[in-house]
Amino acid sequence: MGGMATVVEEGARVTGNERGTEHFDVILVGAGLSGIGAAYHLQKEFPKKNYVILEGRKAMGGTWDLFRYPGIRSDSDMYTLGYRFRPWREAKAIADGPSILNYIRETAREYGIDRKIRYGCRAKRATWSAEAAKWTLEVAGDGGATTRMTCDFLYMCSGYYDYAGGYMPGWPGMERFGGTIVHPQKWPEGLDYTGKRVVVIGSGATAVTLVPAMTDKAEHVVMLQRSPSYVLALPGKDMVAEWLRGKVPAGLAYMIVRWKNVLVAMYLYQQSRKHPEKIKKWILGLAKKSLGPNFDVAKHFTPRYNPWDQRLCFVPDEDLFRAIRSGKASVVTDEIETFTEKGLKLKSGEELAADIIVTATGLKVQLMGGMEVWVDGKQIQFPKTLAYKGMMYSDVPNLVSTFGYTNASWTLKADLTAEYVCRLLKHMEAGHYDVCTPRKRENNIQEEPAIDFSSGYIQRAMDVLPKQGSKRPWRLHQNYALDLLEFRYSNVDDGTMEFSRVKKLAEARG
Ligand SMILES: Cc1cc2nc3c(=O)[nH]c(=O)nc-3n(C[C@H](O)[C@H](O)[C@H](O)COP(=O)(O)OP(=O)(O)OC[C@H]3O[C@@H](n4cnc5c(N)ncnc54)[C@H](O)[C@@H]3O)c2cc1C
Repeated sequence: MGGMATVVEEGARVTGNERGTEHFDVILVGAGLSGIGAAYHLQKEFPKKNYVILEGRKAMGGTWDLFRYPGIRSDSDMYTLGYRFRPWREAKAIADGPSILNYIRETAREYGIDRKIRYGCRAKRATWSAEAAKWTLEVAGDGGATTRMTCDFLYMCSGYYDYAGGYMPGWPGMERFGGTIVHPQKWPEGLDYTGKRVVVIGSGATAVTLVPAMTDKAEHVVMLQRSPSYVLALPGKDMVAEWLRGKVPAGLAYMIVRWKNVLVAMYLYQQSRKHPEKIKKWILGLAKKSLGPNFDVAKHFTPRYNPWDQRLCFVPDEDLFRAIRSGKASVVTDEIETFTEKGLKLKSGEELAADIIVTATGLKVQLMGGMEVWVDGKQIQFPKTLAYKGMMYSDVPNLVSTFGYTNASWTLKADLTAEYVCRLLKHMEAGHYDVCTPRKRENNIQEEPAIDFSSGYIQRAMDVLPKQGSKRPWRLHQNYALDLLEFRYSNVDDGTMEFSRVKKLAEARG
């Protein structure tokens, strides 16, 4: 072993690396909901594999630690946003951000995953060597120093957006505004909005969360939207879960409610696709019933698109509608002409006075947490790749990245992806393979956008996202039941995934 590093810390293995470079079987990037879930599956199926989780921030939890705006919550139910392996036990089905963060932290603690996280370690570049069949990661530490690590398999759980800052369209006159402008992704700690006039720009999930939440202290909150979204009220607590509580074991109750919610969400999505007019009428009917005859639902809650052409917005216990009914919140559907010293001037000529303007204008979609990926000397341009099962990329070996569904909870797909990764690694172990690479072998596969949403943030992301193919396994289902069959039971060696033995061959050659 002369000249080689000794074991640096628990989990790191000494290999033929240059001195001081740690090697891991698997490096996970990101300690959010996905990273913690992925680590659970990995260590359960491979107790002997050494792995580490690199986390760029100083805390785990990702989204649920970053976002701190008033009222921050999920809009998925926690029976499907929670992990399959760890029941959600709280009464709230739509949970607040701190409870979700707590759930992630407790999961990490319970399974000892917290000891595997290295904070303040941002993966900047990953370089694949075909000769060595491993990845080398350049990792920026807190102090700015870059270290190198290597791994056999790289598992990205880095989310889907840029942590550095959200999407902010430029409006004329912003610099003139005398009040405070806030983006929800960078909510100032302790921002006091007591008695203030607030305008929230946006009509997505964040806006519909913020508006009722800020009516607790603000004088008035306006939701200013260029165009409306579909807003559907759901009960904050799940009736079936409540009924089952105490009657059957918690784990069983969780599974029943999880499947019930999966099937209801799938049904709503399929019906929206097949009978958009019927679903549109139903959603608008509920809004009308809640908001009363004097509210202009046609203007403020009737989008130009069909349900599920963009993500639906869910509100628990009609909180948004109740805030509007109480007079503490209102909706304005108009366009901004300019910011003024005192607020906003709209294209209709109306002026909105404001002390605080919140730009709930969305995220900047980012792949791989901003990390560059190089394979054999060439930087991978992800928009030129085809996504394999929505988790690997054509001609990129030994790399998986986690993505959730657009029409269902993120964790449903993240959990399936983790299970699939374990099956893949088992297949490789059994066959003594060290490389797996999805290869597009057929010529009759058409390339299509990865996501067929008309939402602004998806449209803006088209030059960042990979493509999907017209056929399996390049086709994205956005359907948990189909994915479950495919991810859990289909043959890993499917004719598209290429397996090879690089190190074994090199060893044999001497
Ligand atoms: C406000 C908000 C509400 C949401 N609500 C829902 C919901 O109700 N239901 C739903 O299904 N989805 C929702 N989502 C989507 C949500 O992001 C996912 O549910 C889920 O939290 C994603 O988990 P993740 O671990 O994959 O990614 P993230 O939560 O984004 O975590 C990624 C982690 O990776 C780290 N990281 C990134 N790049 C690097 C790098 N290069 N090096 C090191 N570390 C890195 C980040 O610091 C972060 O900790 C919401 C998103 C937002 C922003």
